[in-house]
Amino acid sequence: MFARSISYLRISLTDHCNLRCQYCTPQEGRVKLANEELLRYEEILRVVRIAVSLGIEKVRLTGGEPLVRRDVLSFIKDLAEIPGLTDIRLTTNGVLLAEHAEALKKAGINKLNISLDTLRPERFFQITGVDAFAKVWDGISKARELGFSPIKLNVVALKGVNDDEFIDFARLTFTEPLQIRFIEFMPIGASGMWNKGKYISSAEIMELLKPLGALEPVPARRMDGPARIYRFPEAVGSVGFISPISHHFCDRCNRLRLTSEGRLRSCLLSDQETDLKQRLRSGATDEEIRDLIVKTILNKPKGHTILPDGGGSCHGQMSRIGG
Ligand code: SAM
Repeated sequence: MFARSISYLRISLTDHCNLRCQYCTPQEGRVKLANEELLRYEEILRVVRIAVSLGIEKVRLTGGEPLVRRDVLSFIKDLAEIPGLTDIRLTTNGVLLAEHAEALKKAGINKLNISLDTLRPERFFQITGVDAFAKVWDGISKARELGFSPIKLNVVALKGVNDDEFIDFARLTFTEPLQIRFIEFMPIGASGMWNKGKYISSAEIMELLKPLGALEPVPARRMDGPARIYRFPEAVGSVGFISPISHHFCDRCNRLRLTSEGRLRSCLLSDQETDLKQRLRSGATDEEIRDLIVKTILNKPKGHTILPDGGGSCHGQMSRIGG
């Protein structure tokens, strides 16, 4: 719709997570979906097969934490066998990565996004509620060792929480072939933590990085996401900025999302969803599922309506939608 071609499906494999990040966990605590409410693997595979026949080429597994779902590796192997699906990626918090990295690689994943909002173990505990910084760091090292490429580190930019570390994150790119991506904090979900005082725009982050040198833009490639990528001269890695609030990228958005409870969502920041699970479990034919996917694509909003002051925020839980 609006001349966008939809080629990318993000799948929340589970809403369960082994971290409780302050900004992602609802105030009243997370009510987990029961196992039968999660879309089953064979249902996900069926949706992906149909979606691929409609032009989806790339899938990202996310959550919640995808690596906590039982038998995820054999699911990934089955996914990798779908003809026409050329690119399978994973977003993880990294806690279980070191132990699964090798098997993930064998199963067909080469490209990883790892979320890490701080380089300080004690702050990691404050943000996530779990003392697991060392495990995440081991996961990143293991992924480097095994040659995953690219490895992108997602840093949610939180004013007054981790803005004193942006320089340290960016400095990593001088010696490590990582892409450090600063993500603007979005008013989504029920954490109640979002307020204008915690939000920091990509332009302000760039300003904070100036002491490290001049950032040079890196041209985007076809399957690159919405990040604007830069590099410091001589750096081996790169720095990316994802700016859903200050620079809408809706006109280039090529994504659909399948939530952990089997709803199809055409925009992260709009609560409009199509219930595929109910139809999958009531005998819908592939043709009918295909029509529902097409309708969802045709109804994809032209742009999200969130304002820089947080107005128009949406209420879905990030872990169910798949961040
Ligand atoms: N458990 C996996 C992980 O940690 O990467 C995947 C799911 S997590 C919801 C995906 C990403 O969404 C993480 O990088 C997380 O920091 C980000 N995220 C969650 N809530 C956010 C918000 N309100 N604004 C911006 N990013 C957010």
